[in-house]
Amino acid sequence: MKPFTYVVPHSLAEAAEAAAQPDTIVKGAGIDLVDRMKERLVTPAQIVNLLPLAKDLAGVSVAGNGEVTIGAATTLTQLEQNAALANPALAGLRTAAAVTATPQVRTRGTVAGNILQFTRCWYVRSEAHKCLHGGRGPTCLAMTGDNRYHAVLGWQDCVRVHPSNLAPPLLALGAEFTTVLGDKQQRRPLAELFPKDPRAGVPEHTLQPGEIVIAVHVPPQPQGTRSSYAESRERESSDWATTACAARVVLDGGVITAADLVLGAVSPIPRPRPDAAKALLGKQPDDGLFRKVADLAYQGAAPLSHNAYKLTVGKATVREALHLATQA
Ligand SMILES: Cc1cc2nc3c(=O)[nH]c(=O)nc-3n(C[C@H](O)[C@H](O)[C@H](O)COP(=O)(O)OP(=O)(O)OC[C@H]3O[C@@H](n4cnc5c(N)ncnc54)[C@H](O)[C@@H]3O)c2cc1C
Repeated sequence: MKPFTYVVPHSLAEAAEAAAQPDTIVKGAGIDLVDRMKERLVTPAQIVNLLPLAKDLAGVSVAGNGEVTIGAATTLTQLEQNAALANPALAGLRTAAAVTATPQVRTRGTVAGNILQFTRCWYVRSEAHKCLHGGRGPTCLAMTGDNRYHAVLGWQDCVRVHPSNLAPPLLALGAEFTTVLGDKQQRRPLAELFPKDPRAGVPEHTLQPGEIVIAVHVPPQPQGTRSSYAESRERESSDWATTACAARVVLDGGVITAADLVLGAVSPIPRPRPDAAKALLGKQPDDGLFRKVADLAYQGAAPLSHNAYKLTVGKATVREALHLATQA
């Protein structure tokens, strides 16, 4: 590992000033970051540890209007267990946190670190592979290689998938996020954290160098809102999803009046499927409807040589999420 300066800030202002220096990276619990440093995929000159700022950056608060603010350094366990999130509108977010990884990872891993983690593509995560996304080679090696966990939707010249459990339910809930960059704070829709055109070489997120996420905000949800999260994976624990779906529906008198669907683990970014969600509007929950919606969610899919199973399993995951969101 290349030697680096380790900054232990006493305030957010100090962290922001250090983060704005060249060749610097910020660290939550370091679960993803240290892994990549060990592989020499990132070799920063300086690391700013955000965990000492947990009193400012961790925790969940609910405003008078019902908006929920989640500090960037809140752990997944804190998210899963927070009483303020124990309502059907936020069930998808709680479930996504609860099924992530292992108890050890959930107890340490932070919300921002989870959303900003690097893709799990084994070609880009290994220094030995000359992969296009890593800037080390001319082509996407997964496209013709072992691509069983890779993208089936919305890919162009790179078939990585976005691995975060938390991003799909947060997007389905219309979340926003706040950052600091130097002395400037900015709040914007969470959808803007992910690149519109996620080609090889385009980073997983749109943050500027030195920009620190300080919080994620979930807007107040209308009465009758319910949300859910379902995923498939090979192992019961310690594993990333092979397909995932977050659903948000508003039910009024047994009829779906608003809906959002976001797919995870099948595309280079967490992928909202607005056309599929629209097909739910004005209808009563029904498995026949959910099958049609699942087909729509995967419309335009382009599976690779080893991952066509993701279409079958992914559609079942969409149906499961919709059943969970609409069951009494
Ligand atoms: C065995 C195992 C299984 C796993 N399974 C899953 C799974 O099923 N689903 C899933 O979603 N994840 C899974 N993970 C990944 C894990 O959830 C993430 O690695 C972890 O949440 C990252 O959080 P962290 O605080 O350690 O982030 P770090 O490793 O500290 O940071 C990750 C990235 O985010 C950046 N970053 C962190 N905080 C900020 C901030 N506040 N502002 C700006 N940038 C920031 C860092 O610079 C870095 O690039 C698994 C991990 C393991 C080891």
